[in-house]
Amino acid sequence: MSNGALREVEQAASADKSTPLIAIVGNPNSGKTTIFNLLTGLRQKVANYPGVTVEKKEGECFSQHGKKLRLIDLPGAYSLNARSPDEAVLRDVLLGRQAGTRRPDRVICILDSSNLERNLYLATQVLELGLPTVLVLNMLDVAATREWRIDVKAFSEKLGVPVVPMQATSGKGLLELKIAISRDDIPPPHAHMPLPAAIRNDLMNSRDDLATAGAIHPQASLLEPLYLLSDHDPSHYGIDGAQMQRIQSHRQALEKSFPGWEEQLVNDRYAAVEAICKGVLQRPDKEPANLTQKLDRVLLHPIWGGVCLTLVLGALFYFIFSVAEGPMGWIEETFAALGNWIKTWMAPGDLRDLLVDGIVSGVSGVVIFLPQILILFFFIGLMEDTGYMSRIAFIMDRLMSVVGLNGKSFLPLLGSYACAIPGIMATRTIDSPKDRLITILVAPFASCSARLPVYTLLIAAMVPNDQMSAWVKAAFLLGLYALGTFGAFFFAWIFNKSIMRGVASPMILEMPTYKLPGLRSILLQMWQRAKLFLRRAGTVILGLSILIWFASTYPKTSSEDPTERLEHSFAGMAGHLIEPVIRPLGYDWKIGIGLIGSFAAREVFVSTMSVVYAVEAEDDEDLTPLRDRVREEKYPDGRLVFTPLVCLSLLIFYVFAMQCVSTLAIVKRETNSWRWPMFQLGYMTGFAWLLSFIVYQVGSVMGY
Ligand code: GDP
Ligand code: MG
Repeated sequence: MSNGALREVEQAASADKSTPLIAIVGNPNSGKTTIFNLLTGLRQKVANYPGVTVEKKEGECFSQHGKKLRLIDLPGAYSLNARSPDEAVLRDVLLGRQAGTRRPDRVICILDSSNLERNLYLATQVLELGLPTVLVLNMLDVAATREWRIDVKAFSEKLGVPVVPMQATSGKGLLELKIAISRDDIPPPHAHMPLPAAIRNDLMNSRDDLATAGAIHPQASLLEPLYLLSDHDPSHYGIDGAQMQRIQSHRQALEKSFPGWEEQLVNDRYAAVEAICKGVLQRPDKEPANLTQKLDRVLLHPIWGGVCLTLVLGALFYFIFSVAEGPMGWIEETFAALGNWIKTWMAPGDLRDLLVDGIVSGVSGVVIFLPQILILFFFIGLMEDTGYMSRIAFIMDRLMSVVGLNGKSFLPLLGSYACAIPGIMATRTIDSPKDRLITILVAPFASCSARLPVYTLLIAAMVPNDQMSAWVKAAFLLGLYALGTFGAFFFAWIFNKSIMRGVASPMILEMPTYKLPGLRSILLQMWQRAKLFLRRAGTVILGLSILIWFASTYPKTSSEDPTERLEHSFAGMAGHLIEPVIRPLGYDWKIGIGLIGSFAAREVFVSTMSVVYAVEAEDDEDLTPLRDRVREEKYPDGRLVFTPLVCLSLLIFYVFAMQCVSTLAIVKRETNSWRWPMFQLGYMTGFAWLLSFIVYQVGSVMGY
């Protein structure tokens, strides 16, 4: 590196250090993201914390005096006693032990005023860490509708920290908050909840010992061993097996000398919170029935609740499958026009083919799902923001618990019917790591829209039109969707009973108050998801499209016959290579090429088959010629290739097989290792093979 460049890097690093870092913390749904967005606007970026799949949101804003401030939006939590990776990240960032993130200089702690006691539980813990903290009393409008009165001044005096009253959705209090966090001399908080002497002594001993073991910092305050010892999955803490054992023995020792120490601390904290609220919070004797209660009477009603949910989901599906069609068509046409435009100015040749057949058509195959993804995330944002999402989780919890999942898995699974990628991205709303992993593992069983072209082609090829009315076809299609759903539930149940057995899944189902959604934050989230989708899936698909194009073009033979050329290409060889494996399912090597091509994206089967059968079906919309061609395809000895039984076997294979590299790439990203995507590839495709094998063999024996 040149000297100049080095100096630049150094300057950037020191500028980074001198810019105050401000962390935004609070309970889930207290308004953190709304306030983060208010402060930073579009000056933000989303990444992951290293080693875990917790989202890291960073942004910048300017103080009252024009000084730059860096902000991070931390995951929501109810306490610093971590029970999930999200909560562990919050604790670790605040303790300054999160790799790659320095300890924040200041903290904005956000409280939902309409739920003050519960929110103060976390806030008092945060204050005890001693970082200069500004408290925000958010949602004052909601508290006001309940006729609650909060004495802001008394509150601030009691805790010894600045308190800013706010109503984030209307921007009320933003200026005051900016002024408060711009100060360099925010007094460090003095509130302290005394620890019982016995626990204190034990913790003191543990501290020295844990520090020797390297689990905590030698100078750590008592809080760090406290959080470490009360973390029931200390692997969150980034420590090794030997340290883990030491921690277990310390925990047992503590439990022995002070049985029930954790409950004691929880009770003490609630008592402290109650003392703070006394004289600060005034509630009317009888609260007016609020909107949330009135709405919940309908929306959580055993019958009407189900009806409303069905309507909402119906609307969601209508938008995903019907309204999205327009924009999807535009995207398709734009890419087709781009391909044609390239054809007009480039001379025919390999490079042009690569651009048009490889890159443009490959990328368009993915980008085409963008409208569905945007719509899904618009709905998810809307439902989360209004508070309806928690009601869906509540209503669906019973059903999902049959297979060992909880209600929060419902929407990600549902979203996977559009495309598994946004569905899997949506699993971030599931707090329990176990439920989240199982949901990710089974989500691709949901019949995504990429399977639809394949289903349509094969169902049509299976039975002549005149024998099958549109209704029968629709019923057949529905059956395939049901089969995929069954697969998802079946394997969720299996995983719950096997690999994940015994993993506790904490589930707090909170019913937030209903609120008007904030369009700004929904749009921002859609924008971020879209960017992620296009970048991640786009790069993989791009590479694969080039690869598949290359494999089906080279090595070249002089033959004029496209089928023969294909047979001698790498793809053709691969088709022949896998023929022994797919023969028992009833497929020939040409179908094998289609199967291999499907790994880029399932619908590629259709276009690959068009290439294989050299049909002039440039226009993907028009499947009729291919459909007829498929029906007439014969082996050299005159037998039909696509008998109804072969079609059925293929359909079953497509329902269950894991054939989507983009999904695998997203699963790798979300689980942070190749282990799970590889497992998924193996078990899903293995299961698909097995079922297709059974169907084909049994069918053959029965003479079909
Ligand atoms: P987070 O989970 O802490 O990031 O919370 P969000 O920022 O996502 O906010 C949760 C919900 O509360 C969203 O629907 C917001 O629009 C809403 N919200 C945030 N602040 C206020 C407020 O001051 N008053 C009201 N009525 N709603 C708010
Ligand atoms: Mg948030």
